[in-house]
Amino acid sequence: MAAVSLKNIRKVYEGGVVAVHDLSFEVMDKEFLVLVGPSGCGKSTLLRMIAGLEEISSGELRIDGRLCNDVAPKDRDIAMVFQNYALYPHMTVGENLAFGLKLRKLPGAEIRQRVAEAAEMLGITPYLSRKPKALSGGQRQRVALGRAIVRKPKVFLFDEPLSNLDAKMRVQMRVEISRLSAQLQTTMIYVTHDQTEAMTMGHRIVCMRDGVIQQSGTPMELYKSPSNRFVAGFIGMPPMNFLPCEWTGEALTIPGAGVTGLTSGDFPVRPPAKPILGVRPEHLRLLTKDSPTAAGIAAEVEVVEPLGAETLVYCRAGDHRAVSRVDPETRVGRGDRVTLIPQPAHLHFFDP
Ligand code: ADP
Repeated sequence: MAAVSLKNIRKVYEGGVVAVHDLSFEVMDKEFLVLVGPSGCGKSTLLRMIAGLEEISSGELRIDGRLCNDVAPKDRDIAMVFQNYALYPHMTVGENLAFGLKLRKLPGAEIRQRVAEAAEMLGITPYLSRKPKALSGGQRQRVALGRAIVRKPKVFLFDEPLSNLDAKMRVQMRVEISRLSAQLQTTMIYVTHDQTEAMTMGHRIVCMRDGVIQQSGTPMELYKSPSNRFVAGFIGMPPMNFLPCEWTGEALTIPGAGVTGLTSGDFPVRPPAKPILGVRPEHLRLLTKDSPTAAGIAAEVEVVEPLGAETLVYCRAGDHRAVSRVDPETRVGRGDRVTLIPQPAHLHFFDP
């Protein structure tokens, strides 16, 4: 059992910067929780407070039920993985893995067994006698993970651990960390600014902005039912389209771009008078000029991005821009006149 509970946690830095405002949430035992938000939103500060590397200005932090505000980092039974691997360059991989355990004066046989297990789990057994400089970035990050794993902590804390890796390695390590989470069955708190990492890895996501929680829930809850425009725009790639509209009482129109094709029959509840319509790229159907005409947003194609499995079509409608995710077989090119049709079952309205 290692739940982590934060109650009314606040952090004020010297000089009066409030990095975290009165923040409360629970991380359940064995849960993989992702703290996500743009740079400066306070996520690293929060993680460092959990680790004990930063003082908590007020509030209560409990790890496994124990009040930990004033417990030294080494006595919290947590292990942290950073983005700069911070390996000891003069030690071999094996020595790096064993170092923390030696400091804790574990018996030699126990250390050897834990190092061998972690190395096996991470596929770094062949490199145990190499120095870190003879490893690739991905291999170094595995060693950093291994150093946390050998400790057998109650909670793992990750601070943007994949930021220094190239795109392909990031995807590979993402899968590997998810696999480790399932295998180790240990509570994990993972900080990132990358919404893809949050969506793909988290059992649950806490989305932050300016030191305040915007929404917490499962990845699909945040994706399908964002609680505000910030979350709607932050989660999802490409981001949700936002179109300022007017509700005439009968139909939804876009000033400067005409009709949307949406009328009163499409809405169970009446939209506000001047809503911002939020619609994800996959819910903005695109009809090319070959298609039968239908009521929708008249637009011109500016950029077509074929991604293989799907194609993104960036369009301009009056003063507005919107992107549609279409089937890769769709025949569409720059300059084409198209019709965009928001799918009524998947609309979001935001109050400007
Ligand atoms: P994130 O990890 O989301 O990028 P941080 O937790 O690093 O955000 O920072 C949150 C806020 O606290 C920012 O406004 C940042 O400038 C400020 N901050 C971070 N560290 C310090 C510090 N040591 N002293 C003063 N302000 C800080």
